[in-house]
Amino acid sequence: MLIEQVREEYRRRFGEQPEVITRAPGRVNLIGEHTDYSGGFVFPIAIDRMTYVAAGRVSARSVVFSVDRGEGSPFDAATVEPGEMRKWTKYVAGVAWAMRQVGKSPGNLRAVVGTDIPLGGGLSSSAAIELAFAVAWNEMYDLGLQPEDMAPIGRACENQFVGANTGIMDQMASALGKAGQAMFIDTRDAIVRYAPVPDDLAVAILDTGVRHSHAGGEYGARRADVEGAEAKLGRSLRDSKLEDLDQTREPLTVSEYRRAHHVISENARSLAFAEALDAGDRVAMGRLMREAHRSMQMDFEASCPELDHMAAAAWQTAGVVGARVTGGGFGGACVALIQKDEVEAALLSILAQYRETSGKAGEAILTTASDGAQRVN
Ligand code: ADP
Ligand code: MG
Repeated sequence: MLIEQVREEYRRRFGEQPEVITRAPGRVNLIGEHTDYSGGFVFPIAIDRMTYVAAGRVSARSVVFSVDRGEGSPFDAATVEPGEMRKWTKYVAGVAWAMRQVGKSPGNLRAVVGTDIPLGGGLSSSAAIELAFAVAWNEMYDLGLQPEDMAPIGRACENQFVGANTGIMDQMASALGKAGQAMFIDTRDAIVRYAPVPDDLAVAILDTGVRHSHAGGEYGARRADVEGAEAKLGRSLRDSKLEDLDQTREPLTVSEYRRAHHVISENARSLAFAEALDAGDRVAMGRLMREAHRSMQMDFEASCPELDHMAAAAWQTAGVVGARVTGGGFGGACVALIQKDEVEAALLSILAQYRETSGKAGEAILTTASDGAQRVN
């Protein structure tokens, strides 16, 4: 048990019990990819893979230890600024910095963090570590923050302190998840509508084994194309139609056109998917997930051969309602919705096909929708 592991490691390192233990989930996204930085729709589920933090207050500088990554560099929560920190400790120090930007005064802490979310696997270990620490600071220093306040703090940390220019989806899912529920989020207005995951469907994460890095150049290039298209359109992609792409005063570049085409069509698919889920229309759900994958592959060009092999394997397998790349892309995982009574045979078949077509060993993780970031001890 991870909770016991971080508690034990805290005791071993610091010679006493932690004051608080918190946890925050990763997420998987059903549909709505690369739409959350232009005010669009996303449909994530907070998963049962979590990050745990055992923490206590200190007056000296903050020290953090990761079961997964080892010793972090020390920092002062009251003064740390962007650019000062290196490596993974940025994801922790940046939370304190972001809290200061909204007028809060987080003191120093010592902490042990551990996770069973694969790091850099597209399941948002980054938002999970941010939110688990946000809750720890909030609890220990009585900062009076609500879950909906902590999501933007995590995002500010990731955007401005870590330097990864991501949208709000990951942090909202980790902060506001609910057991048994998927979350249809309008990221323009930060509104969540919960929608139950049907009882007869399993949610499977099909990990290609290929890792990505969001701070890397490709993600930034896609984002620049989206922003370029919005500048030429004179409004957000959320408020644009496909026809508008041919009517800009200054023509879009080929890549701006393709990225915008993905985002605008993805918003329409996400809305249609939410309706199909409500109506129990499994055929439409499957078609929309497949179209969403193709759009990520052809228009957004954020897929990779392994993701395409994995999705194709799932599409050919009995019992699979739908499957597509999930998360930022360039590696990571596909998500699949699979009939529960066929899920074991389906996963074996998908992984066998994937091994054959990609030459790599994939991994399947079954997950369930879980509650968001919270104190657990
Ligand atoms: P993802 O969010 O898809 O897992 P990111 O690249 O956004 O991928 O974030 C992964 C990074 O977050 C890791 O490389 C590491 O720097 C940091 N991180 C997340 N969880 C932990 C952890 N438990 N210990 C140390 N660093 C972590
Ligand atoms: Mg991340």
